[in-house]
Amino acid sequence: MSKRVESLLDQMTIEEQVSLLAGRNFWETNPIDRLGIPRLRVSDGPAGVRGTSFDGPTSMNIPCSTSIAATWNRGLQREIGELLGRENHSKGSRVHLAPTVNLHRTPVGGRNFECMSEDPYLTAETAVQYVTGVQSQGVASCIKHFVGNDTEFERMTIDSRIDERTLREVYLVPFERAVRDAGVMSVMTSYNRINGDFGADSVEMLEGVLRGDWGFDGCVISDWHGVHSTVESVIAGCDLEMPGPPLWRGAKLQQAVDVGTVPASVIRERARNILNLMERTGALDTPPGPESARDDADDLALIRRASANGMVLLKNEENVLPLAGAGTIAVIGPNAANATVMGGGSAFVRVAHRSQPLDAIRQRLGDRAHVVHAEGCRINKRLPELDRSLISGARVDYFADPSALDDPSAVPDRTVEPSTFRVMQFRDPLGRKGAQNDYGTRFTIPFTPDVTGDWEIGLESVGNARILVDGREVLDNTDVPGGGSFFGIGKHESTRLVALTSGTTHEIVVELRHIFHGQGLGGINIGAQPPVAGNLIDEAVDLAARADLSIVVVGTNDDWESEGWDRDDITLPGDQDVLVTEVAKVSKRTVVVINAGSPVAMPWVDDVQGIVYAWFGGQEMGNALVDLITGLVEPSGRLPVTLPRRLVDMPAAETHPGRNGKAQYLEGRLIGHRWYDKTGKDPLFPFGFGLGYADVAVTGVEPIDRHCVQATLSNASDRNGVQVVQVYAHRLEREGLPSDEPVNVLVGYERVEVAAGATVTARVNVDPDAYRTWDAASRGWTPWAGPVELRVGTSSRHLPHAVRV
Ligand code: BGC
Repeated sequence: MSKRVESLLDQMTIEEQVSLLAGRNFWETNPIDRLGIPRLRVSDGPAGVRGTSFDGPTSMNIPCSTSIAATWNRGLQREIGELLGRENHSKGSRVHLAPTVNLHRTPVGGRNFECMSEDPYLTAETAVQYVTGVQSQGVASCIKHFVGNDTEFERMTIDSRIDERTLREVYLVPFERAVRDAGVMSVMTSYNRINGDFGADSVEMLEGVLRGDWGFDGCVISDWHGVHSTVESVIAGCDLEMPGPPLWRGAKLQQAVDVGTVPASVIRERARNILNLMERTGALDTPPGPESARDDADDLALIRRASANGMVLLKNEENVLPLAGAGTIAVIGPNAANATVMGGGSAFVRVAHRSQPLDAIRQRLGDRAHVVHAEGCRINKRLPELDRSLISGARVDYFADPSALDDPSAVPDRTVEPSTFRVMQFRDPLGRKGAQNDYGTRFTIPFTPDVTGDWEIGLESVGNARILVDGREVLDNTDVPGGGSFFGIGKHESTRLVALTSGTTHEIVVELRHIFHGQGLGGINIGAQPPVAGNLIDEAVDLAARADLSIVVVGTNDDWESEGWDRDDITLPGDQDVLVTEVAKVSKRTVVVINAGSPVAMPWVDDVQGIVYAWFGGQEMGNALVDLITGLVEPSGRLPVTLPRRLVDMPAAETHPGRNGKAQYLEGRLIGHRWYDKTGKDPLFPFGFGLGYADVAVTGVEPIDRHCVQATLSNASDRNGVQVVQVYAHRLEREGLPSDEPVNVLVGYERVEVAAGATVTARVNVDPDAYRTWDAASRGWTPWAGPVELRVGTSSRHLPHAVRV
């Protein structure tokens, strides 16, 4: 117990303690000036550290979490955490709202890219490193979302119905390990219900599991607008309601305290947890400083290394990679010049620069190869942001009174130059107090198209908006319903075709009326897409036919994979499957690079020579890709998820996404690879799989004890190589085991470097806690009964060695 915190609590009035239990704005708590208690600022991850606005100073952007997990490289994951710690300081933040450790229960979860893996052990190991790295910099991690937030379907209300054993042995594991092994300082509750109770109201989860069973002594923070009660959530153990101004606390909580519904001791306890968090992170001594952008060369190099290390080489027929020789390289695909470096939603950060695959290939290979490019097809789900390179002299006027938009002579209260046309607003743009004000916004955008024809122009917004082109109204979304953009608060996108002339400057005016709607979030996305001249696939096929090698960069983007919604299927959006198939038919050799945060199907898998899963590779993705395909970096990424052949093969296929407000986790503990093993379904590429250029095999295994095996690895090639040795536990006596008993459970792994031609031995630690049984009756763990076989190899489907323990 901290003396300083206890003394502050003694000095605080109950009103001051209550005021601490809810945010003052989107990202900060209330200060108590009288006692010198500053504001505490928190900031979103995991893709970087955004700071307090979507258009503020830029953040460095790491690869998405599936990519980080795909490195299976604990040291590197810790370094990434340290980098994020440094980024937090640059944004004045002491609490990083990350990592996201919900599991890939299905391949289509909208936030899968933000989560790490389908496997609880791999997620836990990755999270422990990540959190340890962040917290080593004097910044708290706020691990999220506790628990069962594995889908975006009805995300604010869905009831995740998870039996107790599955909860304990699968979904809670990463949280438990982060508490136990990384001392994570805060936890964010989930939006969903868990077996009936909302995350922030759940006595069972917060008091029972987190604080009771695991002894967590940190701070519990609600997800944003995830509190649903005044009394229950405080009693259950949710310390801080975010964001502010509060919907449930503040005056309402004060009243509940005044009439005795919430005891003063509970308020003190909640305030203590927040003050402790502040003390542990140094926030009690320093108010949040100004926000700034870092663009550190060493950190960029680290991001690039992590990105390349996360890429998984899935296929390499005829040794098409690493690239050798010159000739013509056709770089094709919608994501070649416009790769997606991060997914969408609250994880999004504004980044100073992104390295694109096409640019990086041109820069690095241009002197020895002739590089040509074709887009191939388009994949946008909504219009791309208005192209800033075609705009000069834009301005945005803000009016305190939205009706001023009707008066052409009204003088704006504030005018700025817009830095983006995808605007998410957490505060009043006029700097007025509170987030509950109305305002009017008018963008005036001189737009000079580079193509003549029918441009598709459109918008989505929180509030009613319209677009005028050259003084003529072309679109008004007043009648468009909400429930679409901006986490479901905003309107669905509406679009119009507008004839524009290349080289002529057209004036685009966009007006938005922001009327307070109960949440302090505003925003508008203004998009435009040029007309397509000719047939994009034909053009690409034409280039491919004349090239020596085609590199086809396909994938999704941050609209397909985003917080707020799940994907409907795993098919690549647009005509990408046709594109790859047609290119492969004419190309001498084809390498496909997949730029997605979670699994996609590959109906053309047998038609191409090379496949690299590059994920959303962060801001250095292009450079990292070239490092990998040229062999500068040895491929050592391994799949952190199963890649299924078809969506219907997935676990949870029968119950996804949910019915009558409930998601029934009927597949129990058979998540991911465990499901494929148990049902005998054949994945396209199994969990844990990945190739190298070198040929490193596990040639023998010996038991050391129940907690360790020793593997022998031999590198038969003339290149230095890397292998990830994986250990899975299998119960030999299977009679009477429940139907969701997995065949093999991942319990250990080690990434081992093996020099060309060398043979080495490596010890792989096995976590005994990864193979134990939760007994609901005694509320305790028991080790697996009977003999256990440890199966060792290089993927969940390639385990040629076994030892009995
Ligand atoms: C997300 C959280 C995020 C919070 C603040 C919520 O919509 O679920 O992960 O930290 O917003 O942006």
